[in-house]
This record gives sequence, structure tokens and C-alpha cells, in this order.
Amino acid sequence: MRSSRPTGSLVALVAAVALALGVGVAPASARPPHSGPGDKVPVATGYGGAVTTVDADATRVGLDVLRQGGNAVDAAVAAAATLGVTEPFSSGIGGGGFFVYYDAATGQVHTIDGRETAPMAMRSDSFVENGVSIPFADAVTSGLSVGVPGTPRTWATALEQWGSVDLRTALHGATEVARKGFVVDQTFADQTAANTARFSAFKSSAHLYLRHGAPPAVGSVFRNPDLAKTYDLLARNGVDALYTGKLADDIVETVQDPPAHKNSTLVVRPGLLELGDLASYQAPLRAPTLVSYRGLDVYGMAPPSSGGSTVGEALNILEASDLVGADPTQTLHHYLEASALAFADRNRYVGDPAFVDVPLAHLLSDGFAAERACLIDPAAALIKPVAPGVPDGDYTSCETAAVGTEGTDGQSTTHLTTADQWGNVVAYTLTIESLGGNGIVVPGRGFLLNNELTDFNFTDTQGGNDPNLPGPGKRPRSSMAPTIVLADGTPFLALGSPGGSTIITTVLQILVNRLDLGMDLPAAVAAPRATQRNTVAVQAEPGFDRTPLQALGHTFVDNPEIGAATAIEFLEDGALLAVAEPVRRGGGSAAVVQDR
Ligand code: GLU
Repeated sequence: MRSSRPTGSLVALVAAVALALGVGVAPASARPPHSGPGDKVPVATGYGGAVTTVDADATRVGLDVLRQGGNAVDAAVAAAATLGVTEPFSSGIGGGGFFVYYDAATGQVHTIDGRETAPMAMRSDSFVENGVSIPFADAVTSGLSVGVPGTPRTWATALEQWGSVDLRTALHGATEVARKGFVVDQTFADQTAANTARFSAFKSSAHLYLRHGAPPAVGSVFRNPDLAKTYDLLARNGVDALYTGKLADDIVETVQDPPAHKNSTLVVRPGLLELGDLASYQAPLRAPTLVSYRGLDVYGMAPPSSGGSTVGEALNILEASDLVGADPTQTLHHYLEASALAFADRNRYVGDPAFVDVPLAHLLSDGFAAERACLIDPAAALIKPVAPGVPDGDYTSCETAAVGTEGTDGQSTTHLTTADQWGNVVAYTLTIESLGGNGIVVPGRGFLLNNELTDFNFTDTQGGNDPNLPGPGKRPRSSMAPTIVLADGTPFLALGSPGGSTIITTVLQILVNRLDLGMDLPAAVAAPRATQRNTVAVQAEPGFDRTPLQALGHTFVDNPEIGAATAIEFLEDGALLAVAEPVRRGGGSAAVVQDR
């Protein structure tokens, strides 16, 4: 029922980040005719379609596609390709992601699994040497952690299935940005600086990102002509050029023989990727996950992502806890507890469904949620970590919560959300895993490779039952959680976030803020975050009010910034409310085709 939607007054949040244009890689007078950081606004309301991303250029390119009559899928691919230029440390054609699409003509939600895949030569102990895991940092900057990129195949599949333009058209705007350049903002400069040590180790990476031995200056114009040429190649020959052509040769050579300087002190292990791995890559369509929450239908990404199952299970636990009318402290207490319980189950049961029998229907069942919910004590936080439940169909007990093992994850990635004049909607999260991926630019090609295989557990974390060990052709478990919420079969919300395993809690917290705490969408996105992923302490941003939850026994540690969400709400009067972050990661960029 549309009338069941929560209401709230619209809060206008405007991030005024005016960066002075200066002289850097190119003089300011050479500034390209594109968006500058000052063009960014985090909230836009209107009609005819919407795009929201972390970046002004990506949003502008997506919006141009909508204005030229393209649909939400076309705009999503165009914006994603632009993020590959302007947010190259979080996404790009060297990585993978998950694409969730609501098709207005049929009312169906579809998903594409564009997850990177391990080479066929990978074994469960490929990250183990002499009986111990290799250092995580070594695995990150290596050939060993590179999975077959899924992003190019995702774009091609999305356009073939539901797009209205071809790949050439969808890549046009991004290619222009790569060729003519974009204005470097503080986030880009900071993210380059964070990678300086390892980019310096590779001639190709240093050549692109450290042209004068240092990160590009804020306000300078950054160009990536190699990436423009690579996009031209894909536009001409299709994405097969990356999976079977000369570009495939270059990727395999880079992985098998990483181009590290001889005098580098980094230990850069070669990878196992072969041409056959690239040639056989597929980005399959998968049925979405679906749970009902307060009369709304919440669609998410199925395994190998744990996004849909973990957000979905936590929502079911919250619903079983009957929070209607609860005070904010009890709502947030239950949010933290539901998340911890769902993470215990995620860690124990979720992996690549081609290798692991994931009990998805049980994990998303109301019976299992009720059994898990009954462990929550309104007066006291559970001792973390909690043990996983038993999703076996027998849900009559309320067992005492046992103590389990902790799980953790990294940070980076990007999420974009689009909608068009016909009512189609896309929620798309994509990544190259670590900030800067594996740190290695494919020489002459202008893009970084992923280190997605570090999302596998290197050794068994689950007493002989780990669903996320490496394997040949296996996809590492993800946390990406692009989400579309329908009310009475029509779109109500679409959202997602980066942030490793905090993606799940960010999506969940925004939903709780919006649906249970009565915030409007801009406030729900902007509100200070806390993340409980079955760890002893809750991580929380500085502004999160800890005091009432500490009284219930929750303990906290600081996390300066959690996630960088984008979202769209479909308002009752037919308007679109596009929302990005007002502050996190330098603020995002929301836009609509026609302002209200
Ligand atoms: N590789 C992570 C995942 O798929 C995302 C990377 C991140 O956001 O840090 O869950």
C-alpha cells in the first residue's frame, strides 16, 4: 500500500564544496567543459528520471543519456563507465559488481552477477605458504588476488537485455571525460596519495597516477588517454575485446608477471589467471532475494553476494521483533542485534552457490528469523560474537545464544542509482575491492586490476565448514547490497553503498532510519552510522549517539566514516527524490532530468 509509506518533511541538504581551480597537470584555462566539484548537490527532486553517484561527472554523463532519451540501464552503464575514469580507485573495467534492475513494463526485478571469478588453477590453499596464510597486504598487491573482471560483461549483458542504446553510445560520455579530462578534487588526490607507495612500485601505475612523482594537485585537470583508447576498443569490438583479444593477452601477462620495479621492496606474487579463464567468463542473471518488510517488498542480490541474504535476514529479524511504536533506542538496539545475528549466519552459510549449498530459502524464512529474533533481549546486548543459527526448518526452539567467531572486511567500491521516465530503476554496486585494487595498471590500457580474490577466506574460519575458501572458477563472497524496494509492485526506494562488509549494515541502517525511525531519505542517508557485524565492539561514526546503547551493554570503537550511499525515493506525487552523501567521501552528486 502506498499509504503505508512513512512520511516526513523534506530536509534540504546542500554540500557547498567549492574548490578553487588551480594549475596542475594542465592549466586551469584548459578545464574541460565538464562538471566541476562546485556543481555537486546531494539532493535533487523532480521528474523525467534521476541519477545519483558519488561523482559530479558520472552523474552528469548519466543524466545526459536520460535527456537524450536513454533509459535507466543506459544511464547506469554510462555513469559506471565514467566512474571508471573519475573514481578509478573504487571501480572500473578491471573489476566486478552486481546490477539490480526493476523493469517497469513487466514489474519484475532482475539481477546480473558480475562478480570476479577465480582462475581454474586456484586451489583452497592458494593463499597459504608453508602452512600459514600469506600476509594480507602482500595478497592485496599481487597477481594472485586478481579475478576475471566481470564489469565489462555486466555492461554488455545489461544493455543487451534491457538497454535502448549500444555499448558505443553508452561509453561515449565516459570516453570524452577520459580524453578531455576532469578536475581533480580532494577525494581523488587523497585516494591517490593513499596509494603512492605501491603505485610507485609499478611503472604503469606511477606513469598514470604519479606523473610528476606525486599525486595530481587538487584543481588540476587529469586525463587518461589510454583508458579513452581502451573504451574506444570496447565500443568498436564489444567487450569480447577484453575477454579474448589482445587486451586479454595484456591482462594475463600483467597478472602472471606483475610489472614491479626491480628495486621495489614489495613482495609481488604472480597470479594464476590464464587466457581460458577470461574467455569462459560469464555474468549470469540470477533471481533476486526477496523479503517482505512492513508491507514492502525488498529485493536484493543473491549469492555469491551476501548482501541480499544478510540485509533480508536482518529485516526479517527486526520484523519478528515487532518494533512498531518502539522508541529509537530499542529500534537501534534491535538493529545492532539483528545485524550481528545475520552476520553470524552469513559467515557460516553464504558462499558461491556453484560450490556451496547455501540454505538461502531458510536464511530468508520468517521461521528462522523468529528463532533468531527470540535470542534478542530488549534489556541487554548479546555477548559478541554470536554463534550461527541452524536453518534446518525446525524453528520451534529459542536456544541460548552461544559465542561464535568474528569476521571482518575492507573498504572501497562505489554505488550508483538511476531511474528513467518510464519507471525503470537500477541499483548498481561495483568495485575493484581495495582502494586502488591490486595497485597495478595494465600497461598502456589505463585501468587498474582488481584484488577481489582477497574476499575469500585464506584458511578455514568455520571449523571445517567455511563456505568462502578459494576454489577453481569460484566467486568470492561479496557484501555488495544493491537494493530495490517496491510498494504494491511499484518502486518506492532504490539504494546501495560501498564499504566492504559495512555495505550490509549501511543499507540496513538507511532502511531502518527511513522505515522505522521516520526520517526522510536525505536524513536517513546523512545520519551518523554504526555497524555491528558480529564483532565484540560496534564500530560507530563520531556523531552516532552511543550513550543509550552503552546502557544496554553495547561497546563502541570509532570508525571515522562508514559507507558512501546513493539512493532514490519515488514520491507519492510521482516525483523522484535523488539523494547522495552530503559529506562522506567529499559528498556525492544527485540530479534529476527536470527539477520540481
Ligand atoms: N570486495 C567487497 C565486496 O564485494 C567490496 C569492497 C569494499 O567495498 O571494500 O564485498
